[in-house]
Amino acid sequence: MTEERMDFPYAELIKSLPFIAFVRTKNTQGQYSYDFPFHQDKEHLDISPFDQMTTDESGCLDIVEWSDKEKFIQSIRDSEQNMTMSKENFCVLLPSGERRWLTGSALPEKQENGDIVWKGLWLDITEEKRKNYFNSLVLESVHEGIAAFDSQGNILFFSPSLTSILSYTAEEINKKTIFSLLPSDISETLQQYMLLSALKDKISIEVSIERNESRPVFLEIDMFQKDFFFICLFRDVTRYREKEEQFRYLAYHDVNTGVKNYTYLDDVFSKSINQAKISQTQIAVLSVTPDSMGQVDAVSDPVIRAHIMASIANRISSCLSGQDYLAQTGYCHFTVLVTGLEFALGVEKKVESILHSFDKPIYVNELEFDLTVSIGICFSPQDGEILPDLIAKSDMALNQIRCDEKSSMRVYNSDLAISTAISMNMRRDLKKAIENNEISAFFQPQVDIKTGHIVGLEALARWHTSDGILIPPSEFIPEAEECGMIDALTEIILDQACKWNQKWHSMGLCRVPVSVNISGRQFHNESQLLCLIDKALEESDLPPYLLELELTESSAMLDPDNARKVIQTLLDNNIRCALDDFGTGYSSLSVLSSFPLKKLKIDRSFVLSLNEKKNVEIVRATIVMAHALNLPVLAEGVENRRNFEVLKNLGCDIIQGYLFSRPLSAEQMELMLMRWDADIAAMGESL
Ligand code: C2E
Ligand code: MG
Ligand code: MG
Repeated sequence: MTEERMDFPYAELIKSLPFIAFVRTKNTQGQYSYDFPFHQDKEHLDISPFDQMTTDESGCLDIVEWSDKEKFIQSIRDSEQNMTMSKENFCVLLPSGERRWLTGSALPEKQENGDIVWKGLWLDITEEKRKNYFNSLVLESVHEGIAAFDSQGNILFFSPSLTSILSYTAEEINKKTIFSLLPSDISETLQQYMLLSALKDKISIEVSIERNESRPVFLEIDMFQKDFFFICLFRDVTRYREKEEQFRYLAYHDVNTGVKNYTYLDDVFSKSINQAKISQTQIAVLSVTPDSMGQVDAVSDPVIRAHIMASIANRISSCLSGQDYLAQTGYCHFTVLVTGLEFALGVEKKVESILHSFDKPIYVNELEFDLTVSIGICFSPQDGEILPDLIAKSDMALNQIRCDEKSSMRVYNSDLAISTAISMNMRRDLKKAIENNEISAFFQPQVDIKTGHIVGLEALARWHTSDGILIPPSEFIPEAEECGMIDALTEIILDQACKWNQKWHSMGLCRVPVSVNISGRQFHNESQLLCLIDKALEESDLPPYLLELELTESSAMLDPDNARKVIQTLLDNNIRCALDDFGTGYSSLSVLSSFPLKKLKIDRSFVLSLNEKKNVEIVRATIVMAHALNLPVLAEGVENRRNFEVLKNLGCDIIQGYLFSRPLSAEQMELMLMRWDADIAAMGESL
């Protein structure tokens, strides 16, 4: 054991610290020796045999672990050569077999006798080294990525797994801040939390990150503050999400066809019904099935059958939008939810497009399947709030479609839904009626009150359904106007009115104008209206002055300026206009006088109740006013002799009503025209 050397710098202090103070000497013969000048506290050090330690010829302690020897010697050599401080980090292998790690430095000094003496300190860092080792072992083996950063976002530490989780190299991470590592929205959230010092409690978020055009990675990120540092823990949950996705796929899809199934629809419905209640919207539930299963059933290969189902689903979904949901709810049975409907009728166009999407056949494995589908519809909440009940109701509507009907739709008929059902069913039927020529013009004569001669004919639309039912225009004209079919309907009546009138004209039966009712909406599209009229006149060869148009007072008053303009244009083309249903609108005298009209028709409601004195006065005033404007007056709805007399006395010019004739089919009208003069002559005395 050596004497204590008090010339060693800070000797007193060193004695009490967990250092090993040493003096290394290289004498002029090149031999090294070590001296340990202090009896240092063994409690700290745990290395006792230093004072007996030997060295080899290059000055390296024999107990230095062989792998560190070279490094150890090199640091002494460098220090000696440059007379600079040697930095010594090494592991020693003690006779007990234990390894300990020392780190330290020593300053060389040349002695007068030529010796070189290093005075230095080694610190036993074994505990630290072990801790670090095990820490890094733990860090390497955990899957979570850890990043610690300061308030500026500078990354102070990160675990090795962070590189693989974020697909960045360690160098790349070193150059980044935590904010640039995270997706921008998450980064903003994090910065806000940091500013508000709100990370005392852990905050967890899940993000999906797409890097290098690879599959998205789902990360769960915990953020929190620990002492002066901020920590982000990154957990890669992609595997779980993918598994969940697989389970969800299996739970939500038909295993054979791959089309979404009932469970999926039920889930969507529960969410949608709540939403519908909040937003006061409706959900349409559509049951869609092929009109005939024959073609599908005839296929024995189940794979092809599954492909057909998938193709049907594809056709349907090609007509759907983001708020619509489709599922296969049975063999050859599909259900669609159309959500967010403000009006039940809003679903109509979608239904039409689904039906039309089957206009072309489906091809599977080069086999052609000419399938059409039909659709039953009901609405939630009005028809119920339970999905199976709603599907049953749309199925009931579907079952109402007759076997011989194809590509049809029906709406479930509950008391609540009746008006919607009627409207929608009516529209669809009306469309077919137009295609199938079920609409025709009937004619009613307009008679001069003084002479009894027919001075005009009114063409009135009639719908004879294939079931032999006659539907009055009051039921289908408003629907036709609503759904844009009024032009097609007017075209039919105009064509037939012009054709028949030209025929009767050329037969010499009558030379009077035929009047056709025009919807107010059509007056707003002047060019289209003129087009329809031109076509009808041209095809029938009827002179334009033998055509008259009737516009109701109420629709004329909706936009009087436009009405005046159109009436004038028609007159410029030799086509006269009459104001229909007078008394039901609110026309002012000044507006009325500015219309270039040729006739004024008093609404039949006044005529039918001419027994009331008030109405007599209204009719009288109307006639006086019309005459003042040089307008002949026609009274509609004259059913009896009494009213006829009243009107005659009031100075009415023309009458139209059951008293002379109900509206008749063209053929019946033709017969009536042939007999008219004779009949009127017979009636003459009584007129
Ligand atoms: P409107 O133009 O005022 O036609 C007169 C209506 O009175 C017709 O009803 C006719 O049948 C009915 N009528 C005639 N004489 C009598 C009578 O003595 N007593 C009673 N109670 N009624 C009588 P209709 O044919 O049911 O037509 C109703 C309305 O439908 C028409 O009223 C017209 O506004 C509209 N309409 C008919 N055909 C067409 C059309 O082709 N296009 C358009 N846009 N509307 C049409
Ligand atoms: Mg009319
Ligand atoms: Mg009328």
